[in-house]
Parts: sequence; structure tokens; C-alpha cells
Amino acid sequence: MSIVKIKDLTFKTFIPEDEIQKNVKQVADKINHDLAGKNPLFLAVLNGSFVFAADLMRYITIPCEISFVKLASYQGTTSTGTIKEVIGLNEDLAGRTIVIVEDIVDTGFTMKRMVESLGTRGPKSIHICTLLLKPGKLQVPLNIEYAAMSIPNDFIVGYGLDYDQQGRNLRDIYTLVDDK
Ligand code: 5GP
Ligand code: MG
Ligand code: MG
Repeated sequence: MSIVKIKDLTFKTFIPEDEIQKNVKQVADKINHDLAGKNPLFLAVLNGSFVFAADLMRYITIPCEISFVKLASYQGTTSTGTIKEVIGLNEDLAGRTIVIVEDIVDTGFTMKRMVESLGTRGPKSIHICTLLLKPGKLQVPLNIEYAAMSIPNDFIVGYGLDYDQQGRNLRDIYTLVDDK
């Protein structure tokens, strides 16, 4: 087990690189099977999903496209948190099979908002592919067809995910050490 310190917090190895790869390949194989012939358009949500998207895509063996979007937070909040808007989307989604590529689904509010927003652009279908899912935290009904791994409620970093913008470069996934 290895320990890393990021700013004020201490993390320990939680999911090693080889296990991540095994699970990413498995979820890619499911997509290869389910979406064959549909020329899916993968929409990867920056920044957190950039590592996952790069690995996932290289296990996809069917014709497909990929593009990248960001979520911008508005001023102000609702009962469900900060209002977020999808930015950087230049593709025409009309009639397309969309696969959202996300790093982690926690409460699910971000993903729900994104599905609603993309849904207004006339896609044929929208599928969710997330590297990580925290089933214990999910607060909204979401059909998550492709989750590479399910994890407990603890805060994690690495493999694209950050703590205060650091730790995205770590090859393994790390979990917070409760050193109290
Ligand atoms: P949700 O709207 O599902 O509650 O939150 C989703 C977003 O919160 C993720 O896209 C991610 O940016 C952030 N997030 C949630 N849980 C974690 C976590 O354990 N680690 C990190 N680094 N980010 C997280
Ligand atoms: Mg994210
Ligand atoms: Mg973050």
C-alpha cells in the first residue's frame, strides 16, 4: 500500500492501476456489444474524466466519435446545489446515440442536470458511462447503464480525479485516510 500527501490530506492506495484497467475494459466491452452499429458519440466531461476517457476509448472497437465538454457553474444555487450549464459542445446531437463519460457519480445531481440539458438537443438516446459510482450517495433516479466500479461513500483521488486540482496524475485511485 502506498501513501500520498496532497496539501493537508493523506490518502492511501484504494484501487490499483491493473484493477482499474480490468474494469474499464469490461465496461468498454459492454458498450461494444450494446451500441454496435450506432456510431455512438462519447461526450467526456472535463476535467475529471480525461484519463478514464482516454483508456475507455482505446478499448472501444466499434466505430464511434468523441468530443469534450465542460460544466460551468452559474452564480447562485438551487435546492439541488449550484446550477450548472454544459459548455463547449459544438456537435449536432440530433438523432445521435450519446454516451456521457463521467469520472464519478456521487449524489447524481450533476449527471441529472447534464442528461436534461443534452436531452433538449434531440438525441436518439443518452447513456451514462461513469468510472465510479457511489450507490450510497445517489439521491436522484438515474439509469446508470455503464459504471466501471462501485465504491463506498469516501472521498477519492487519482486517475483524473482531483483534490483541490491536485492528484489527477496518480495512476492508482486513492482514498482518504481517516487519521483522527
Ligand atoms: P454529484 O453531482 O454526483 O454529487 O457530483 C459529481 C461531481 O462531484 C463529480 O463529477 C466530481 O467532480 C465530484 N466528486 C464527487 N465525489 C468525489 C470524490 O470522491 N472525489 C473527487 N475527487 N471528486 C468527487
Ligand atoms: Mg465529474
Ligand atoms: Mg473536482
